Amino acid sequence: MPVLSEVLTALDALWPPERAEGWDAVGTVCGDPDAEVRRVLFAVDPVQEIADEAVRLGADLLVTHHPLYLRGTTTVAASTFKGKVVHTLIKHDIALHVAHTNADTADPGVSDALAGALDLRVLGPLVPDPSDPAGRRGLGRICELTHPMTLAEFASYAAAHLPATAQGIRAAGDPDREIRTVAVSGGSGDSLFDDVRAAGVDAFLTADLRHHPASEATQTTGRTSPPALLDAAHWATEWPWCEQAAAQLDAVSDRHDWGLRTHVSRTVTDPWTAHAASTPIFTPTHTTGAPR
Ligand SMILES: [Zn+2]
Repeated sequence: MPVLSEVLTALDALWPPERAEGWDAVGTVCGDPDAEVRRVLFAVDPVQEIADEAVRLGADLLVTHHPLYLRGTTTVAASTFKGKVVHTLIKHDIALHVAHTNADTADPGVSDALAGALDLRVLGPLVPDPSDPAGRRGLGRICELTHPMTLAEFASYAAAHLPATAQGIRAAGDPDREIRTVAVSGGSGDSLFDDVRAAGVDAFLTADLRHHPASEATQTTGRTSPPALLDAAHWATEWPWCEQAAAQLDAVSDRHDWGLRTHVSRTVTDPWTAHAASTPIFTPTHTTGAPR
C-alpha cells in the first residue's frame, strides 16, 4: 500500500503544480505524507457534503478540482464552513489535494474530459500553452461533432450527455443553425470569447456566461457570424474530469501494484438546485421579433 507522499508524487506528475495559474491555490491542503492510502475519492468541490461522503466511504485521500482556500486565512475554526471541512477531514485521517488550473491545461485535461462526455473529436487546444512544443496542452479544446446537428439538437444532446443539473443547458443563437465544430471549456469560459471567435468554430460550450460578455459575443461583426453559445452548469462541465482523473490514477496504481481503490463522487454540488422555466411571453427575436 502506498503512503500519501508517493500518491502525491504521482498526482503531481499528472498535473504539475508549477503549471497552475499564479493566482491559483493547488496542491495538498491537509494530510500526513507518511499515512497509508487505500481509498481515494474524486470530486469537483471541497464542500462539507463531499467531506462527509469521504468519511462514509473510508477514504484516505480526497482529490478535488476546486481549491478549498484560494486566498490566505487566519482561521480553520470549525465554526467556519471551510474550517469545518478541514476538521472533518483531519479527524478522519483524510488528506485533501487540489488540481485546478494545472488540470485545466493538462493533456489530457478538464476540457478533454468534457469533450469526451459529449463524444466530440478533439482537434487541439483553444488557447495553446506556448511552453508545450507538442501543442497539445492549453486551455479549452476545439472539437468536431461526429455528425452535424442543429443548435437546438446539440443543446438537447449536451443536456442529455452531461450530468443532470437544475440549470440544464441555455443556448444563444439561431436554433436551426448547423453545428459542426465547437470549442469547449470546462468551468467559467467567458474570458475566452476572443479565442473562440478567432478559432472560427460554430459554437462555444462552457459555463457561467454573463449577460454583457454573452450579449457582445453574439453580435455580428463584419462578415463573420458569431458563434452560437451553450451555457451549462459549472459543476456539470467539470465533473467528467473526476472520472478521467480516477482512471489516470487507476493506471498509475496498476503500474505500481498499489491496489488503490478510486471512487468518483456522484453528489451534485452545483450551487443551483432548482429551475423554473418562464411562461413564454415574447417569441425570440431571431424567429419573428414580434411580441405576442
Ligand atoms: Zn471550476
